[in-house]
Parts: sequence; structure tokens; C-alpha cells
Amino acid sequence: MRKHFFTTLAFTALSFLATAVPAQQPPASQAPAANRGKPEDTEVWEPVPKIVTPGVPTSGPPPSDAVILFDGNNLDQWVSVKDKSPAKWKVASGVITVDKSTGNIETKRSFKNYQLHLEYLIPENIKGEAQARGNSGLFLASTGPGDAGYELQILDSYNNKTYVNGQAGSVYKQYPPLVNACRKPGEWQSYDVVWTAPTFNADGSVKTPAYVTAFHNGVLIQDRVELKGETVYIGKPEYKAYSSSAPIKLQAHGDPSPPISFRNIWVREL
Ligand code: MG
Repeated sequence: MRKHFFTTLAFTALSFLATAVPAQQPPASQAPAANRGKPEDTEVWEPVPKIVTPGVPTSGPPPSDAVILFDGNNLDQWVSVKDKSPAKWKVASGVITVDKSTGNIETKRSFKNYQLHLEYLIPENIKGEAQARGNSGLFLASTGPGDAGYELQILDSYNNKTYVNGQAGSVYKQYPPLVNACRKPGEWQSYDVVWTAPTFNADGSVKTPAYVTAFHNGVLIQDRVELKGETVYIGKPEYKAYSSSAPIKLQAHGDPSPPISFRNIWVREL
């Protein structure tokens, strides 16, 4: 009898908690990041994309109608994300090298739908492992400060294990690349991307989602994937309405590995 009483009491208390607690919690979209879970919750480790050795280097002069974002001379087309002052990354010998102390940079101009070409170099002396090895990123639309927006991951994924939806060529934590087409550190690599910007209704809801097609060193790695929202480190991706035109951003990732370099960056507006 006594045991039954406590069982009933415990059951009543549990029932109360089960109904009362969820009603007191804010919806996930309003919860602080700490309540959205851990970064590990959104890591995917398998299947591991197979390795494809790319063919000839995919570099060359831009087409005649391209908007040149970097031609080897200066960062006139770029600003610092945090205060919109002139971009302070280093330019020497025709290449840009990330200056991690000065943060992310983005284009002065905004773009909606486009084709983009970019080349990057993981230094031959790269150190570190997993996400702390040559990490940078190409944000196809920069929708705010820091890492806000839609990131196509840049990382040294040549013999470097990490979660597959965070390896080089992933749409960060949404789509692993179809294959791993990385070149060795010390060799120039290319991304060629087609970006279809999301569009939004007047009330901020999604009218049409974003799509990405991408080639890594000439090899297809993303085949018109439909994005689930902005790319985020913690929690579920969500769309946040913007005008559909946004700067293109490059990431200064905080890991201690030697900085990577860029050259030959251009876009064709569609
Ligand atoms: Mg990154």
C-alpha cells in the first residue's frame, strides 16, 4: 500500500513535469545557443566521400563579363566585416594571405545569383588536425557579422579526418561533398560555384530556398543542393530573411594553423 502510494505520487509528479516544463521553455528559435545543444549533435561522420584525384589545374584568365574581385594587386573590392574599414589581409606576390588577427573580409558589392571562381592554397607547412588545419570558408552570402550566412567549407581535407559535413567542399553541416577532390597542401586549388540566392515573402517566410552547385578542382562536389537555411556551428539551420543580395565573405578561422592564401577571384552575375 505504502509502495503504491509513492509510485502514484511519483507518477503524478512526472506527469506534472511532462506537461508543465515544455510550456515554460521558449521555442528553439528564441533559445540561447547554449540550449540548442552541442556542436557534436550536428556532426555526420559517415559515409566518407571517396577520394578522386583531380585532373589538370583549373586556373586561367576570367571571362570577359566577369566582375573581378581579386586580380593579384590589391584588396580594393574588400572590406573588414566587423567595421567595414578597408580589408587588412596581406597582399604580396599576387596572392592574398589571411590575417587571422583582423577577422573575416567581405566584398564591398552585393550579389544575388552568380557564378564564382576562386583559387586557394593550403600552405605546404600546414599543421594541426581536423577542423584546426587550414580552415577558412567561402560564404556565398554574408548576412551579418562574424560567420553569419551560407558557408562552403575550405579546409585541408587531404589525409585529415573530420566530420564529413564539415570537410572541404561541404555546405557546412548540411551537405558533405559528393567526393573528396582535394589536392595536397602546397598546390593551388579551385572552387567554381553557382549560387542561387534564397528569396523571401514580405512576412519574412521563405519564398524559394537557396541552391548550390560546386566544383572542386574541376570535379562536381555539390549538385544543386537545396539549403536548409544559414550554415551554423550549433543547432539546426534556419533561414533569416534578407534582401537576397549580399556580400561574398572569406573566413579568418580562429584555429592556430598557418594561414591559407587566395588568388584569382571573380564572379559573373546571373
Ligand atoms: Mg570554415
